[in-house]
Amino acid sequence: MGMAAAIESVLDEIKKIQKISELSGNPVCLLGATKGQPPARIIEAIELGMTDFGENRVQEAVAKWEDIKKRFPKVRLHLIGPLQTNKVRQALALFDVIQTIDRPKLAEAIAAELNPSNPRILKFANPSFYIQVNIGKEPQKAGVMPQEADRFIEYCTKELKLNIVGLMCVPPQGKPPAAFFAMLRDMARRHGLKELSMGMSDDFKEAVRMGSTCIRLGRALFGERSG
Ligand SMILES: *Cc1c(COP(=O)(O)O)cnc(C)c1O
Repeated sequence: MGMAAAIESVLDEIKKIQKISELSGNPVCLLGATKGQPPARIIEAIELGMTDFGENRVQEAVAKWEDIKKRFPKVRLHLIGPLQTNKVRQALALFDVIQTIDRPKLAEAIAAELNPSNPRILKFANPSFYIQVNIGKEPQKAGVMPQEADRFIEYCTKELKLNIVGLMCVPPQGKPPAAFFAMLRDMARRHGLKELSMGMSDDFKEAVRMGSTCIRLGRALFGERSG
């Protein structure tokens, strides 16, 4: 299947689900997960109308996206992989959305860069953020633990005053994802957060059924990754 057909097929699925699921109904943002994809593939997707993309690594994103963003200034770039505190400034300069805030140190480093009294403030940075929740409590995965999430969300929104718009998760492999998506949705609701970044190529339908507003698709749009 070519990319155009793949995009159309995903949009069709979303429409079908939204007709029958009462939880969904919010607009769903289709985010192209472009790790490992060359610029030509990304530009092909932009020319087919895609507006949102996610990269996992700051370094790879800088190399690929500085030119693409100049050429297509309306495209929004999301960071969907882990962020080290020493890369915060670089990330804020490039990404429009950072979906992977998951610990106080990182949240504090971001708040410090965005503080108006910071003399080196990045004038044009106006990013929005998601908090990543380790929804399956997996030791090898990033994300704040669910039992600590309520407090961490409050800290980021009320004390650090970060522009937190939603929550993001990657549920455990090999388990039905619906219950995890439901848990993330309930958590977001408790805090009045509108955006839910959940669902990848293998589980985006369940995610949309559970109210996802941002599905992150790699293989479903671009085919299998090499390496
Ligand atoms: C790679 C990646 C995706 C896309 O994965 P696919 O299974 O190829 O759709 C989504 N989210 C994150 C965080 C990823 O690292």
